[in-house]
Amino acid sequence: MNEERIDEIGENHVGTSAETPMRPDAFDISDKEKIERIQESVRDILETLGMDLTDDSLSGTPKRVAKAFVNELFMGLNPANKPKASTFDNKYNYGEMLVEKNIVVYSTCEHHLLPIVGRAHVAYISDGKVIGLSKMNRLVDYFAKRPQVQERLTMQIVQSLQEALGTDDVACVIDAKHLCVNSRGIKDIESSTVTAEFGGKFKEKDVKKEFLGYLQMETNFN
Ligand SMILES: [Zn+2]
Repeated sequence: MNEERIDEIGENHVGTSAETPMRPDAFDISDKEKIERIQESVRDILETLGMDLTDDSLSGTPKRVAKAFVNELFMGLNPANKPKASTFDNKYNYGEMLVEKNIVVYSTCEHHLLPIVGRAHVAYISDGKVIGLSKMNRLVDYFAKRPQVQERLTMQIVQSLQEALGTDDVACVIDAKHLCVNSRGIKDIESSTVTAEFGGKFKEKDVKKEFLGYLQMETNFN
């Protein structure tokens, strides 16, 4: 792939597949070993930049960054951390769509390793199963905690909920700011990126419209 093409992908955030590209040996080493290795790499980066790592304020940074990468920012790479999406029978026979709005998204752009911050809105129509509301937030967070592109994140959320709920009728809209766009390059602090994935009935015009209508509703409890 030539330089131009790489730049193009980097800036346009083109997603290729809903799968996060990972090597088959991704989990051959333990999290502990990953932290050790990343720590050395971060030390190398900071030293290359000319920082004095003997300074009190900086001496712990390589370890802190390595732990944050493995245990927090990128914890969603490890399937062992996937939240159990326990579902229940839809006993009350609620037949309309359920929308979980304004789920906070903290993710990391995989092209620049800079933050993506925004909100996800997730909806489904039960086909007999329902899922705990907080589970939806947890699933969003799990997939967000990877090096990501927003398109893929949106699709992964929808696919995992389709699987858990046993229905195609799931949708997700994400509205997020990418710090790689907002803080570097063209420094456009106002712009945000919207992505959407509509499964099953949500592809129908009326259903899609109803869902998007709920997103316009003001929720103000103050
Ligand atoms: Zn980026």
